[in-house]
Formats: sequence, structure tokens, C-alpha cells
Amino acid sequence: MVSRVIPVDPFDLVIFGGTGDLARRKILPGLYRRFLDGQMPEDARIIGAARGEMDTDGYRKFVDAAVREFVSEKKCDSKVLKAFLKRLHFVQLDALGDQGWPDLKALSDHERVQAFYFSVGPSLFGAIAERLHKYEIAGADARIVVEKPFGHDEATARALNESLAKHFAEHQIYRIDHYLGKETVQNLMALRFGNMLFEPLWNAQYVDHIQITVAETVGVEGRGSYYDKSGAMRDMVQNHLMQLLCLTAMEPPSKFEPNAVRDEKLKIIRALDPVSPEDIVRGQYRGNDDVVSYLEDADADASTTESFVAMKLQISNWRWNGTPFYLRTGKRLRDRMSEIVVRFKEPPHSIFEEDTGQTANELSIRLQPNEGMDLKVTIKEPGLGGMRLIDVPLDMTFADALGEEAADSPDAYERLIMDVIRGNQTLFMRGDEVEAAWAWTDPIIEGWKERRDKPALYDPFSSGPEEALMLLHKDGRRWREIRE
Ligand code: NAD
Repeated sequence: MVSRVIPVDPFDLVIFGGTGDLARRKILPGLYRRFLDGQMPEDARIIGAARGEMDTDGYRKFVDAAVREFVSEKKCDSKVLKAFLKRLHFVQLDALGDQGWPDLKALSDHERVQAFYFSVGPSLFGAIAERLHKYEIAGADARIVVEKPFGHDEATARALNESLAKHFAEHQIYRIDHYLGKETVQNLMALRFGNMLFEPLWNAQYVDHIQITVAETVGVEGRGSYYDKSGAMRDMVQNHLMQLLCLTAMEPPSKFEPNAVRDEKLKIIRALDPVSPEDIVRGQYRGNDDVVSYLEDADADASTTESFVAMKLQISNWRWNGTPFYLRTGKRLRDRMSEIVVRFKEPPHSIFEEDTGQTANELSIRLQPNEGMDLKVTIKEPGLGGMRLIDVPLDMTFADALGEEAADSPDAYERLIMDVIRGNQTLFMRGDEVEAAWAWTDPIIEGWKERRDKPALYDPFSSGPEEALMLLHKDGRRWREIRE
């Protein structure tokens, strides 16, 4: 398996919030891996910008430690790391004031690809965009990358879009959702639109239902003050699960091209029916002898914020009318697992005797862990004893099928950053998409507030509240087990 690394043009990447948690754990280690793979031009520069007391030497030490901590030992080559660190610079600046901006201006070069990664709280996005313009740091083709959360509701997302639009055109704005950078998510598109096998069956006539699960074992540890104002609906459903839903449900775009893909995703969001309260379950984790409850974890007495949400959705269009989509996400669940499962209908008529064990086909697309796909097919149980049917998986775990090299594919962040440098927006959310997703989410959250809805409690490391199981049981269906 030969990995194909296409070098990119010389670039300057400025990371606002370059000393923060996201930069340390994801962005900088990812950039090192791109450098190691030879994808980064020799003269590329990475400029950390943050308000803490630091200089370039100190920043190089900071990044050295981050790479050693978050890159696998096998990829941590001291000589390469030393060369990578030379690419790094640091500018101390205040996003809300004037300090440091002339220093950043002195480093800026409009002849290169310029990318500005806003790895800071969203309250700083507008101020940074304004100063990039005011100090003439960003050239005409500069790109900005903005992190989640993109707004708190439709009104704030729109205001944020407007504040960025004052200084940057839509084709310069990259709203990142790292779920879209995952290898399997892109493979979902390859599977659907690169094969003849699935697309003819990919509709309400042949698909019984679709399940999308993003389960975490972690609690809100340390992020409680942010999370308690947000909850699973805002933190996970409005963005990550909605994006997975769109890619699963959308019509084939005419081209694998940014606006063609994003137009199709937007149509799905707009075709979502409003969800009635009986089709949603909210949950919040209890504590046990080993872990504290959500309330203690988030340090929020009597909070009614949900750490779990499960829901049944309907898409009102020709393709999906009558096929429900079940979404579920939560913290402190049994295992860390993200997957999309397409459950096909049973054959219209069985020629076999009733108790032969025939079931429906199931295609599961695993995002994490063990990225891969798995198609459950029915075959005859080998041996004598008549026609007994069993399900067997046609398993394509990438590591098994394509070798360890392929399984060790770039992390979502590094892939997306390289897309920014190349100027490819396909895997980034457009402004109208984000606003539409909020427009669908807002009435649901508003309804909870009006009804003073309280989340159902669930045990830590379980599958979530009992009520979530009932959501499918009442339709004669069941969730896939949450299992690594
Ligand atoms: P953090 O608090 O760890 O770091 C914030 C960074 O911003 C620091 O480098 C700090 O120096 C800088 N900063 C703060 N105020 C500033 C100012 N006035 N001027 C200049 N610099 C300033 O935050 P984080 O966890 O790295 O998150 C950054 C962004 O990424 C947030 O929007 C967050 O929601 C988002 N995000 C983070 C994660 C994650 O895993 N940490 C995941 C997804 C999204």
C-alpha cells in the first residue's frame, strides 16, 4: 500500500490560540505528521499567536513537548522534529487590543498562501477578523478557519456569519467540523457514489431505518462550565450528527466539489420534519462508586442540561419518506463508538421455513474505533441439517484490508488543515448550512425550556436511559449495541 502525499504550496499558517488545548493536542501534532510525510514545503511557516507571555524559543519548546506527548513514538523522529520546530514562530498578541498586531503584520507575506486558524473562543472571532483587516495582515486570498461552537442558536450564528463577512468572503471562510475530516466519513461518499451496488437500494423502498450513534465514555471533565450551557444537542447533534446525517441521506451531488456537496447537504437539513417531544429522549448521567454524576462533574447543582440525547427523525423527500433516522449521542456511555448503520428491509417474501433464522442486511460504517465498514449478509449455515441461515459479516476493517499504513491514516485535523491550504472547502460547512441546522435545532431546545423538561437519569457506562431503548422498541426495532 503506497501512500500518496501531494505537496502543497508554500504557506503561512497563523494559529490564534496557538498555546491552547486544541493546538497542543491536535493541530500542532497533526502539522508535525504532515511535515514528517513530506507534505509541507520546506519554507512553510507556522506562527503561534496567543496572549500568554512567550517568545519563539519558548514556543518551540512548547511544541516539542506537545509533539512528543501526542505523536506516536514510532513517528517521533528527533531529527525531523528539530527541522519542524524551525518552521515555528510565536507572536504574543491580544485579540481584543492592539498589542502584538504590528509584529504579526511584520511577518505577513501576501505572496504566500495565508491561513489563519481561529483556535480561540468564539467571542474573539469577530475581533480577530477585524484586526486582520485593519492591520492589512490578510491578503485578498487569505483563508480563515473557525472552530466550533459556531453560534449558540440561529441568531448568534447569523451574527457571527455577518461579523466574518464584513472582512472575508464565503470562499475564504472554513468552518471546521472535524467529523468531516475522518477517513470513514469520506469513504461513505466513496461507497455511495463510487459503487453501483448500494445507491439503487439507498432509499425508503429498501432501507428500513438508519441509526447514527456517537458514544463517548468520558464525562464533561473540566469543560463543565461551557458544556452546561450547551448540552448534547448543541455540542454534538447540531453539528457532528447533523453532518453525518446529511452525508448519509443527501442526493448524489453532480460533482465532488464544494458547493455541489454543500447544496445537497443543505437540502437535507431543510427537509427535516420538526421533531415531536415523544420522539426525543434526553438523559443525564448519574454517579456511582467510581465516577461522579453529571451534576458534580459540571459543578452545576440542579442543572437540567442533557449529557445524552436520542431522537427519531423523518426527512420529508421522495427518497426517504417513511424511513426513520435514529440519532443518539451521549457522554459516560458503555464504550467509545461512532457509527452509521443502514438497516435494510427484509426480503418481501421468504422461501424458507419460518424459523430458519433469516434476518435483514445491515451495513455499518464505523468512524471510531477500528475505522471500517461491515456488511451483514445472510448465508446458509455450513454442513448438514437442512436449510439453516446465519448472518456473517463481510468485514472491511481498514487495518485488515489495506494494511496498518492505511489504518494509520492522517488525523481529521491534519487532513482538514491541508484542505485549507489547498483551498478546498468540500469538507467544511457553509454559512447557510450552519444557520439552517440551528433553525431546526432551536425550536426543539426552546420546547424543552418551555415545558421545563427534565432529562431522564442513566447509569454511567450504560447504553443511556431506558426511555431511549423504548424509542426504538415502540417501532419494533432495536439499537445496535454500544460496543468498541
Ligand atoms: P484554550 O482555553 O485551551 O486556549 C485558548 C487559547 O486562546 C490560548 O492559547 C490563549 O492564549 C488564547 N487566547 C485567549 N484569549 C486571548 C486573547 N484575548 N488574545 C489572544 N489570545 C487569546 O481553548 P481550546 O480548548 O484550545 O479551544 C480553542 C477553540 O477550539 C474554542 O473555540 C473551542 O471551543 C474549540 N474546540 C476545542 C476543542 C478541544 O478539544 N480543546 C475541540 C473542539 C473545538
